[in-house]
Amino acid sequence: MDFLKRQRLLRKELEVRKVDALIVTHLPNVRYISGFTGSAGVLLVAARSIFFTDGRYAEPAAVQVKGARISIAKVGALSAAAAACIRLRLRRVAIEAEYLTVAQLRGLQQALGKSVKLIPLSGEVEALRAIKDAEEIALIRNAVEVSSRLFNPLLRALHPGVAETDAAARLEFLARKEGAEGMSFETIVASGSRSALPHGVASAAPLPSEGFVVLDYGIVLGGYCSDMTRTVHLGRAPAKAREFYAAVLDSQLAAISAVHPGVATGEVDQAARRELKRAKLDRYFTHSTGHGVGLEIHEMPRLAAKNQAILRPGMVVTIEPGAYLPGKYGVRIEDMLLVTETGYEVLTPVSKALIELN
Ligand code: ZN
Ligand code: ZN
Repeated sequence: MDFLKRQRLLRKELEVRKVDALIVTHLPNVRYISGFTGSAGVLLVAARSIFFTDGRYAEPAAVQVKGARISIAKVGALSAAAAACIRLRLRRVAIEAEYLTVAQLRGLQQALGKSVKLIPLSGEVEALRAIKDAEEIALIRNAVEVSSRLFNPLLRALHPGVAETDAAARLEFLARKEGAEGMSFETIVASGSRSALPHGVASAAPLPSEGFVVLDYGIVLGGYCSDMTRTVHLGRAPAKAREFYAAVLDSQLAAISAVHPGVATGEVDQAARRELKRAKLDRYFTHSTGHGVGLEIHEMPRLAAKNQAILRPGMVVTIEPGAYLPGKYGVRIEDMLLVTETGYEVLTPVSKALIELN
């Protein structure tokens, strides 16, 4: 990973914003900019960067952190960063507005006094993270491939009467066996009427003998997340359920076809909704069409109604429309895509033809 290049790009952004430094506190951003993977550390990006952590992380920091001097703080990493701002006579220091707590902000204001002006910024590092480089794309491909290989074993764990959590446990066990550092979010196994819950995290409910099961999961591998959804049917699907599934699949395919560099993400969302409207199901599509994926499961860009963010080559996004009939059933289908120079590449290799399990 070219951490020095990332710091150069970030410094340019900071110059444009006319700030002397940025205190990076959001750990995925710290990791992206410096390489540090631990759970406690603050990065001060200034003309020369300094990384502050505590004694527990002295060794890993020495190995991992690139492009920054390492300082082992005794008073807390954020307080140490504040002290450095004063020592370096910085005047305008930016903070990550989305991630600093009120208590942390007060602590900083107190430590810095009147000589330093704190400038709240949003999304500076996140905007850089939205465009993946070749190494990141390779890691994401690997995470997607490994999680896709777990799909058939997961299907074999689905039987009427088995608890949703049991099926999730099987999947998560196999994911760890494949080397995953963890799941990228709580595994969704939502069966029968629970499939109508867009966020139906696996529960104690037993799988029914007939009905849809929404399976939405991802793994973290090499630091990068994967995310996929397939909806399968236990027993033979009635004609109505098949039509419903086909409408969601058409919507997903239409949204995928709309992915192209230069296109606003809102247009991709619109393409998904237009297709569902044809089947008179658009009012049952109650969430956004997709999101960026990388070090975090949800990152920039968002693919939502009226969103003006522009797709660029190197972005990795999900396309995941769904439709949910409250109390009855729901269907969602989700792939991960890489935006390329000429269009897109679907990364998720798993078939989307309706699977009926018996
Ligand atoms: Zn998902
Ligand atoms: Zn997703």
